Amino acid sequence: MTHERDLLARAVEHAATYLDGLNGRKVRARSTYEEMLAAFNEPLQQGPREPTEVLDQLASKADPGITAMGSGRFFGFVIGGAVPGALAADLLVTAWDQNTRLLFVTPAVAAVEHVAGQWVCDLLGLPQQSTVGFVTGGCMANFTCLAAARHHVLAKAGWDVERDGLQAAPTVRVIASAERHATVDIALHYLGLGSGTVQQVETDGQSRIYLESFRRVLESGEGPTIVSLAAGNVNTGAFDPIAEAIDLAHEHGAWVHIDGAFGLWAAVSQDLRHLVEGVERADSWATDAHKWLNVPYDCGIAIVAQADAHRSAMGAKASYLIQSDADPDPFELVPEFSRRARGVPVWAAMASLGRDGVVDLVDRCCSHARRFADRFSAMDDAEVLNDVVLNQVLVRFRDDDEVTQAVIAGVLEEGTAFMTGTTWKGVAAMRVSVSNWRTTAADVDASVDAVRRVLESIGR
Ligand SMILES: *Cc1c(COP(=O)(O)O)cnc(C)c1O
Repeated sequence: MTHERDLLARAVEHAATYLDGLNGRKVRARSTYEEMLAAFNEPLQQGPREPTEVLDQLASKADPGITAMGSGRFFGFVIGGAVPGALAADLLVTAWDQNTRLLFVTPAVAAVEHVAGQWVCDLLGLPQQSTVGFVTGGCMANFTCLAAARHHVLAKAGWDVERDGLQAAPTVRVIASAERHATVDIALHYLGLGSGTVQQVETDGQSRIYLESFRRVLESGEGPTIVSLAAGNVNTGAFDPIAEAIDLAHEHGAWVHIDGAFGLWAAVSQDLRHLVEGVERADSWATDAHKWLNVPYDCGIAIVAQADAHRSAMGAKASYLIQSDADPDPFELVPEFSRRARGVPVWAAMASLGRDGVVDLVDRCCSHARRFADRFSAMDDAEVLNDVVLNQVLVRFRDDDEVTQAVIAGVLEEGTAFMTGTTWKGVAAMRVSVSNWRTTAADVDASVDAVRRVLESIGR
């Protein structure tokens, strides 16, 4: 064995040991950030060190500060696991070390990503001619798509925003839900459109926009307009009335963007497809591969129906003109100029799971979410707040903010499971997001039991 091969084998050994131990460890990190700083905080020495020793030290020192996000009992935020096929391919991507920018220079990874993009559009029922950019996550997917939107609506108004900027441009109206995801606002900040100027649409008891409010807001103005809709609210998992809203928005000449970081994957399931009916008529879609497709961090996907808007917003004009007949180079579809081939693990996830495997992953997570909801509903002191239409459950204890927060803190500390909190419609709630291929019914039961134990330990 060469030294490098030996070192890589050792890295894989450490990785496999970690993964083998996932189910047996506390889900939360056992050490705090301060303790980890103390462990690592030392001056950089002058000379080199043996990389094997560096690796061993990293693995052993970091271990207590690693949160088992890949555990089948991690239900915080919306965090996917990593299916083995994608995780293994990601290691290869690291070894290949391809700067995925130009078709000519990195043909293999560019082709694999192109096919991955087509497969994703196929699975999600989106137009096959869409252009697809592999970005770091849903936030940058929203940014990329909304940049394409900004280009398009201003070009229609006779304005070249890439050349002339926004300072003297026609005003762009942005219409979005009052309960849109925070990253839509981040994207609007980056784009110079601002979030305080968003025309907000009121939401119903499940966090979906009211169609009538949407119509009123649409009709209240004119000019270049961008609409952002949600496929999967981050708290409830609920969907805006997508088909009707898209058609209304298009009647008003607006660009329609869909934030579907996890919710777009409902499209793969026979039982859930109705939630995203009509979604293919939108103009752009942001989704994540690192959430429900269970690709390791990081990978988001920006999908745009109109290639020229996508390339004009992200690419360099000169090369766009030269290459107008060819497939776009990867860099023309993302904010980055240099990046890893993060679309390759996306391909590997789908190739290893097959269509049936992706459908099963989504359906299984939703059925576990319903199991959570059923078991919570059977408890005296718990109330499920949302209609569990997807993989998200909101639960509140003794109808009391303090008790609910104490349960969340107590469950975290106990370590069997990991759930996070939120304030939803003005009250505290615990969020359960089932997004990992590893989660089993036994994980759900063990987690509900942990919640019950903690709740019982909290005096009335
Ligand atoms: C997670 C999420 C995002 C942001 O995605 P990142 O991958 O964290 O950048 C955007 N929208 C929704 C609805 C999400 O759930």
